[in-house]
Amino acid sequence: MNPIPNLPRSENKRIVVAGAGFGGLRLVRSLENKGFQVVLIDRNNYHQFQPLYYQVATSGLEPSSIAFPLRKLFQGKSDFHFRMANLERIDAEKRILYTDLGILDYDILVLAMGASTNFFGKKDLEENSLPMKSIPEAIRMRNILLENYEKALNLTDPDQQEQVMNIVVVGGGPTGVELAGSIADMKSFVFPADYPELDFDRMNIFLIEATAKVLAPMSEASSREAAGYLKRMGVTVRTEAAVESYDGVSIRLSTGEEIRSSTVLWAAGIQVPFLPGLEKALRGRGGRLVVGRTSRLEGLENIYVIGDQALMAEEAFPNGHPQVAQPAIQQARLLAKNLIRQRKKLDPLPFYYKDKGSMATIGRNKAVVDLGKVHFRGFFAWIVWILVHLVAIVGTKNRFFILINWAWNYMTYDQSLRLIIRPNKHP
Ligand SMILES: Cc1cc2nc3c(=O)[nH]c(=O)nc-3n(C[C@H](O)[C@H](O)[C@H](O)COP(=O)(O)OP(=O)(O)OC[C@H]3O[C@@H](n4cnc5c(N)ncnc54)[C@H](O)[C@@H]3O)c2cc1C
Repeated sequence: MNPIPNLPRSENKRIVVAGAGFGGLRLVRSLENKGFQVVLIDRNNYHQFQPLYYQVATSGLEPSSIAFPLRKLFQGKSDFHFRMANLERIDAEKRILYTDLGILDYDILVLAMGASTNFFGKKDLEENSLPMKSIPEAIRMRNILLENYEKALNLTDPDQQEQVMNIVVVGGGPTGVELAGSIADMKSFVFPADYPELDFDRMNIFLIEATAKVLAPMSEASSREAAGYLKRMGVTVRTEAAVESYDGVSIRLSTGEEIRSSTVLWAAGIQVPFLPGLEKALRGRGGRLVVGRTSRLEGLENIYVIGDQALMAEEAFPNGHPQVAQPAIQQARLLAKNLIRQRKKLDPLPFYYKDKGSMATIGRNKAVVDLGKVHFRGFFAWIVWILVHLVAIVGTKNRFFILINWAWNYMTYDQSLRLIIRPNKHP
């Protein structure tokens, strides 16, 4: 395999960062003009804001509002290169990466490639349910959600119609709760007006959770209140019910219950895919790569791992940090500092995670928020949720468009982006 062309070496050490998610992006920004050559690779040419995928899937936001082109972000930066490339293999001894564009050598490698959907080895679920771990998957979900009602209009058998209209969301974490709430809003405010010929009393929304409660990582109050909100919005919540199988028509639960639905949305788990070349590295739960408190991969030279891909145990987090944005961002900040310290021959500083709290929104104007021991809910919590997400999103234009969209949706009770966009079967 040939080297990736047109990537000149400079007099600075080359740091290759694989992945431009929350962690990778923060790291690259913190290393700007710090005397390193930075090469960023990502299989997409944009950064994705994953917490709002569900709004793309439910027609609340345009995909372009939650994505940011990487080249625009790094215009004019010196000793910086971006390549849209897929990392396929590592040769740690030779310090070489194999990508679909060619090989790339590094002095220091930072893996920040996040995680992918975990179907827990169930092939039928992988084939028949809809995951939401990328913008294309969120768009596909939107298309299928909308297409179902176009299909239902043309069915005469009421049972078949009900099956096509039913929606099952699997996974009662924040993603599943947010999806279910948003779909319940569509059922109340949007679908009956769009499809007046359909009887929406026949549409059932189920949220399936294997553990005893929804929003399990959040406080008891958040979990209870979120379940209450969902029930009042017409979502049937099933806890202590694991999914056993799904053939595209009927989903079977561990409780023995069977639900007929053409649409199963999978928000039940993530895993870190195996990366060839890292056989010697220790893999922990969910395939995460075990690192020390400086993010360094034990046993391999000059390789660091941050964010969802890493498993770093800390006194307060013996099983690793939660796979959310803040650990990725905070690890990236400290790693940038430590790489600069390393060059000055100073000892690295250990990582301590600062938990800034967690939140989830349920429908158009309700949320639950936990900030340390402080918990609040309802409309005020929803405003806090909006502000936090607006601040976190990359790009002023994105912030502006999201705010306008949310304000419009809030005032009109209408998600206005109900477009089925895909290549036409009949050109
Ligand atoms: C639907 C959903 C909702 C979420 N909601 C929240 C929330 O509300 N709050 C919160 O804090 N967290 C939330 N999370 C979790 C949060 O998004 C992740 O914890 C965070 O993105 C992890 O950051 P990261 O930098 O480790 O990886 P990511 O942000 O996932 O970035 C990984 C990057 O690596 C790239 N990549 C992957 N494999 C390769 C490869 N082989 N070659 C090249 N590039 C590659 C990807 O394209 C991506 O850009 C949510 C996640 C999902 C899926």
